[in-house]
Formats: sequence, structure tokens, C-alpha cells
Amino acid sequence: MHELSIAENIVEIAVAHLQGDARAVVQEIELEIGTLSGIEIDALTFAMDAATKDTPLQQAAVRIITVQGRARCNACAAEFDVEDFFSPCPSCGGFDNTTLQGEEMRVKSLLVQD
Ligand SMILES: [Zn+2]
Repeated sequence: MHELSIAENIVEIAVAHLQGDARAVVQEIELEIGTLSGIEIDALTFAMDAATKDTPLQQAAVRIITVQGRARCNACAAEFDVEDFFSPCPSCGGFDNTTLQGEEMRVKSLLVQD
């Protein structure tokens, strides 16, 4: 399952951030997931449950912030929302677009109690 390896990677990043503090307990973790990242939020939420078991993130509330995919048209410079990588520019119909956001998968913040 794709999302499980992503969740494990997120836990690794978070644990590395604790710098070996064995008593640290993560209360909340905030993730930014782009709509173009190919990650299913439901599957990731489920995978986070499994991946955080027996880690400092076991009790952490997982907050997921969705980042809407956006692109800029290289022909007319219009910016627009996209749901996939194959959407034409709504202004000129061009397919030569640069993705501005929506591909992210990152840990935005950690709330740690020590
Ligand atoms: Zn255009």
C-alpha cells in the first residue's frame, strides 16, 4: 500500500525532529497534502494509525490540510485550479502549463509536549 510507506516516512521525519528526546510526546501533527500528490487522504489517515503505533506519535491527532492544485499557463500566464496534470488553460485552451502547487506532501507542524 502506497500510503503506508508515505505514513512511515512522515513518522520518520517527525521522530527525527524530536532529536532523540525519549520523553517527548507528539500531541498533534499537521500535514499538507496536495490534491495532485496522488495521495488518498482516507487511506493516509488509516495508514497513519498503523504507522504511529509504538512511536512518540501514538497519541497524536493527525490534521491534514489539503492544498488545491494550481497551474499557470505558459502561453497566456493565466492561473487556474486544476484537478489533474492534463487540464487545459480555461482562458486559451493551451496545454503547456506549469504546476504552481498541489504536489506537496510535507509535515507542516508538530505539537510536542515534553
Ligand atoms: Zn492560457
